[in-house]
Amino acid sequence: MAEKINQPLRMCISCRDRDVQSNLERLQCEDSQLSLYRGHGRSFYICKVCLEDQKKVSKALMRQCRSGEKDKLVNKLKEIITDDRKKLALKK
Ligand SMILES: [Zn+2]
Repeated sequence: MAEKINQPLRMCISCRDRDVQSNLERLQCEDSQLSLYRGHGRSFYICKVCLEDQKKVSKALMRQCRSGEKDKLVNKLKEIITDDRKKLALKK
């Protein structure tokens, strides 16, 4: 895939696969509160495959957020993805 060569690769925190940024969801965790990346602070990436596998991603989320509140994090993640998809749908 030569056309991808100039695009920086980002690593998914869950499966550790690398992909171009546009294929990953950029998130952040501030004070154990998960949200979409707002342009400042520490961020991390989750790939689309892992976004569909919330059981698997919850461990990585707990690690990133330094939080043991698995259900809270997973529910928040679902909320973020749903909101994000609504926004994308509106743009089309
Ligand atoms: Zn992944």
